[in-house]
Amino acid sequence: MSAELLNGSRLAQRVRSQIRKKLKKLTFTPGLAVVQVGTDPASTLYIKHKQRDCEKVHFHSEVHRLPADITQESLVQQIEMLNTRSDIHGMLVQMPLPDHIDNEAVIDTIVPHKDADGLNPVNLGNLLINREGVTPCTPTGIIRLIELTGEKIEGRHAVCIGRSPLVGKPVGLMLLNRNATVTYCHSRTVDLRVEAQKADILVVAIGKSEFITADMVKPGATVIDVGINHVDGRAVGDVKFEEVKEVAGFITPVPGGVGPMTRAMLLENTLKLAIGG
Ligand code: NAP
Repeated sequence: MSAELLNGSRLAQRVRSQIRKKLKKLTFTPGLAVVQVGTDPASTLYIKHKQRDCEKVHFHSEVHRLPADITQESLVQQIEMLNTRSDIHGMLVQMPLPDHIDNEAVIDTIVPHKDADGLNPVNLGNLLINREGVTPCTPTGIIRLIELTGEKIEGRHAVCIGRSPLVGKPVGLMLLNRNATVTYCHSRTVDLRVEAQKADILVVAIGKSEFITADMVKPGATVIDVGINHVDGRAVGDVKFEEVKEVAGFITPVPGGVGPMTRAMLLENTLKLAIGG
């Protein structure tokens, strides 16, 4: 039996159309600012996508391109300036930053009520105490994809492979907040296969192409593949899609699964920040 595909592109389209509807009731235009340091081509492409997404929902967006050798102090000043702008409701600093910049200090500078990525310690802290406000985009998109299955999260065993502050750790907390029983696995986990096999919901975010094979997946499980690995010029997930889809109940494709939902959740966060909710 082949798994049902969780189509992130289609769900993201639906999210954008809901945003457009909500926007009609607003008397102002939500604004998103993106700060880019340096000229990393991948970052430039991601930012272009974010701008295009903003256009699709008629948000104002602007990009602040700063030189790679900018000082920490000047970067912080730029963010502080955006903190005070009343027409900018959400902002983010595109990662990765050059080595001489302290990433955490930069994220700390973004005021929590303009933190479009949901990565400020205040917003992450709220997530920890089950007071979800603005939550990180990829984990929020993952929850939406799991909800798309129509199966409940409560009481199910979720296994998160990967514990990064960007994906693995917050998605585990969001599943826990929804009363799943959560196991975290990482590079020091002793028997990953045994842990993965217990999962009703398996979230894989490790950045290793086709690492998860069919024998690691419980029949009927919901498998969320977060990985984006570039192999021979194409994007490949962390899950060996062709064989895992024969075992799983639901599965996300790469591309077209988590990626589009991450982008849609950035728009949703920006709207949330704009209307103060
Ligand atoms: P990361 O910061 O590099 O974290 C990787 C995590 O995987 C770490 O917790 C690491 O464990 C764990 N890990 C690495 N090798 C492992 C192994 N052999 N067995 C078990 N665990 C292992 O990466 P990330 O930012 O979370 O991203 C993960 C992947 O998702 C990447 O491919 C990235 O491109 C992709 N991604 C996609 C989206 C999207 O929108 N689709 C968004 C963000 C990220 P330790 O903690 O022990 O080192």
